[in-house]
Amino acid sequence: MSSRGAAARLITSIGLLATAGCLGTPTPLQPNLSGSVGVPHHGVQTGAVQLPVRGPGYMRLRPRSLKYWGQPRLVAAIQRAAARVAKEMPGGKRALIGDLSARHGGKIPGHHSHRTGRDVDILWYVTTTSGAPTYNPGFIHVESDGLAKLHGAHAGPDFLQLDVPRQWLLIKDLLENPDANVQWIFASRNVEALLTDYARALGESPALIWHAETVLLQPGDSSPHDDHIHVRLACLPDESVRGCEGGGPYWNWLPALPVLPALGDRQLDSLGADDPLAASSAARVIDRLLLEPAQPMARHVVGE
Ligand SMILES: [Zn+2]
Repeated sequence: MSSRGAAARLITSIGLLATAGCLGTPTPLQPNLSGSVGVPHHGVQTGAVQLPVRGPGYMRLRPRSLKYWGQPRLVAAIQRAAARVAKEMPGGKRALIGDLSARHGGKIPGHHSHRTGRDVDILWYVTTTSGAPTYNPGFIHVESDGLAKLHGAHAGPDFLQLDVPRQWLLIKDLLENPDANVQWIFASRNVEALLTDYARALGESPALIWHAETVLLQPGDSSPHDDHIHVRLACLPDESVRGCEGGGPYWNWLPALPVLPALGDRQLDSLGADDPLAASSAARVIDRLLLEPAQPMARHVVGE
């Protein structure tokens, strides 16, 4: 396709999106909307796949829950990362996977986001205080020393500790996975420090550590995420055209957005001859999508 043809197609798509307004809901009248549609706290999804109850290195925290639907690349990323941890660090317990989204997205109990198939909660890998891997009994809170005090009905030891090596490897795989394209990993500052200190001691590349420090974030407007990580994938360029809205920065290591030649007034006039207003509006949208540099880290992000 010529670059002009690509531009025309993109304008058409954006125009159709504009007509969808804020509805953002795929319907027979909005066939252009598909996949992850809308922002994580206000959206839906189509084409979701269900995370199997268990697989190599992981299992669902709630086997019978209906909230294990996500976009295919999210489900694949979870499976890949957990399998890598199990393979490279045998002898551990499975990662316990919390909620993804409902099959068709939308609001689910207990979450503000998790509506568009790009979010998942994963419980910590933990060991006993003597270092033996054990199952995480639930959403236990890890402190700055890596220990989590157990309360109430939990039988057994008083404390468990974050299994830093396995936790780091899981996150490393999510970051290195070329298909995952992680936008955020919400986690407490304490846990981030434990993980990145460990990565430095391990001799991981400065680029990978910087990457991790960039996406690891303690949310300012929800729980500090000291009891699990919450992984959110970014919208990819083709997904953005189909209705995916990132609601945050587009990191410069994510797949490059298509570079189109600047459109002159004459080209815009010819593309939008029937509706010049729509054409210039579409051009502004394209400018925003294609020409803006990576935005600074959002001050407010939606976590849980
Ligand atoms: Zn979450």
